[in-house]
Amino acid sequence: MATLALNQVKKSYGIGPGALQVIHGVDAQIADGEFVVIVGPSGCGKSTLLRMVAGLESITSGTIQIGERVVNNVQPAERDIAMVFQNYALYPHMSVFDNMAYGLRIRGLTAPQIRARVDAAARILELAPLLERKPSQLSGGQRQRVAMGRAIVRQPQAFLFDEPLSNLDAKLRAQTRLEIQKLHRELGITSLFVTHDQVEAMTLAQRMLVMNAGRVEQFGTPEEVYERP
Ligand code: ADP
Ligand code: ADP
Repeated sequence: MATLALNQVKKSYGIGPGALQVIHGVDAQIADGEFVVIVGPSGCGKSTLLRMVAGLESITSGTIQIGERVVNNVQPAERDIAMVFQNYALYPHMSVFDNMAYGLRIRGLTAPQIRARVDAAARILELAPLLERKPSQLSGGQRQRVAMGRAIVRQPQAFLFDEPLSNLDAKLRAQTRLEIQKLHRELGITSLFVTHDQVEAMTLAQRMLVMNAGRVEQFGTPEEVYERP
């Protein structure tokens, strides 16, 4: 687990006179284990901000720190964070176990280490009886949990969620939201969750970072954000 710190972070797409600045000096300090939801209208820069934390987008100026480390020039794979997308892609020909184990095998963990991590994640996500199944033999909710399991087994310092619920039907959306809450309660991993859905933001957030046009408008608990006149 780790703190996240954004210090005067700016982002422009393109260079020279045609450049478009989309993030205008964002400051945010996120505590160890905190669940922060980034909310705001489409195009305000939520996804860009998250992608900069993940290392999928360069930082034009300012710094991003994960724990003590400034990560501006650190490759995504070396940042020790896990990203959960809306379009989770499981390997269809692999079992649930192998889907979760894949990233760990690449990293060279031993078979017993992999077994222990996958079993622990499967217990939390209630996937233990399903480890030998193929993705095609799972419900939508179970597949979503396997996708989260793949992130958990890496034991990252932080989770980044990019609208992971937005393609789901209402029932599955509510179910997955509860799953994410449970996960955070059990693991307490520092989390940044992007959504344009206010209800989702209110129910998940310990604090909400409200963005508009590339700036932070408010940063506080849901009560603080909604009580403000
Ligand atoms: P949000 O996630 O809040 O919908 P984005 O971060 O996706 O917002 O986009 C913020 C702004 O940056 C938008 O104006 C968008 O068109 C622009 N943008 C996003 N990605 C790129 C890109 N790769 N190249 C140029 N402009 C981009
Ligand atoms: P989202 O709403 O999930 O951010 P978008 O449809 O806005 O998704 O963007 C999808 C992809 O297109 C992203 O990789 C984003 O960076 C890129 N993109 C968005 N806006 C622009 C743009 N104006 N120019 C180039 N790429 C863009």
